[in-house]
Amino acid sequence: NKQIILNDYVIGFPKESDMIVKTSTIKLKVPEGSNAVLVKNLYLSCDPFMRPRMKKMEGSYAESFTPGSPITGYGVAKVVDSGHPNFKKGDLVWGVTGWEEYSFITAPVAFFKIGHTDVPLSYYTGILGMPGMTAYVGFYELCSPKKGEYVFISAASGAVGQLVGQFAKLMGCYVVGSAGTKEKVDLLKNKFGFDEAFNYKEEQDLEEALKRYFPNGIDIYFENVGGKMLDAVLMNMRLRGRIAVCGMISQYNLEQPEGVHNLFCLITKQIRMEGFVVGGYYHLYPKFLDMILPYMKEGKIEYVEDIAEGIERAPAALVGLFSGRNVGKQVVFIAHE
Ligand code: NDP
Repeated sequence: NKQIILNDYVIGFPKESDMIVKTSTIKLKVPEGSNAVLVKNLYLSCDPFMRPRMKKMEGSYAESFTPGSPITGYGVAKVVDSGHPNFKKGDLVWGVTGWEEYSFITAPVAFFKIGHTDVPLSYYTGILGMPGMTAYVGFYELCSPKKGEYVFISAASGAVGQLVGQFAKLMGCYVVGSAGTKEKVDLLKNKFGFDEAFNYKEEQDLEEALKRYFPNGIDIYFENVGGKMLDAVLMNMRLRGRIAVCGMISQYNLEQPEGVHNLFCLITKQIRMEGFVVGGYYHLYPKFLDMILPYMKEGKIEYVEDIAEGIERAPAALVGLFSGRNVGKQVVFIAHE
């Protein structure tokens, strides 16, 4: 059983060498009387929140990984054996699993059975899984969007951002996204149907850039990056704007997070800024599927993923999120069913 092991807690930008691939043995059978599920992992999902888990954290929303042990994350898997009443051999599932070929899941709480198999299974790491739910919850539940509003999304071409932008377009909003390369900017405009997009790395002054795209200001900001971008957005928000704080990837590798200077705008512009963790909203998953599956069938939603082949490539794929190497949702293919 090949496994991705965290060497030690990580300081600064994560490197491929912070993880090693180790082979161990595993019994492909759940012990008699156990509630556990044994799964064969098919796809692993590279998600930015795995970076904070690589450092020692206490009292956080996610637990730290244990150095010397396999890391965990979202994935798509097939049940090989089960002692759990909700899962049986052969079931396809998505949820939190080990970064390894086979995983023994003692408490399959964050596990969902896959009902619709007429789409690529990898989609359950993205559009039909946790990032899809994140886009849905953050946009519809937190942003109170209305037709015609001005929406800005950072890290817009990624797993979450590409979906938020398309949800906003379907609602009749004016949508602008930022991303870190020309290729991504082109994707935003030509594939995902954003009205405008720009490369934030090429802008000297983010506040001015946003003024260019939003001469009348921003009603909704879907926050994925934090730092300087947040400060620039605050200065460009409209009265009674909403900010869904989904993530702050620009801060994850800093030992000391950058300060935010323009929070006073929350008062003067009466902005509602709210953070969320998708895990608290999984009860809405069936409702989300009812919305997204028809959109997908009718070709109203585009989806781009970036698939690395083989468990050996998993560390590089994960680390690549923090330099923007991924184009679309970063997935690792592990095995066929
Ligand atoms: P992405 O697929 O968007 O991948 C991460 C992207 O972030 C990179 O491709 C890169 O794109 C961009 N990025 C990396 N470093 C920086 C930086 N310093 N400044 C600006 N952009 C940077 O990831 P996801 O869509 O999976 O996640 C997006 C955000 O949503 C993250 O912040 C994540 O933590 C958050 N999240 C929150 C959840 C919640 O429950 N609240 C659940 C899931 C995700 P580029 O080339 O454009 O720079």
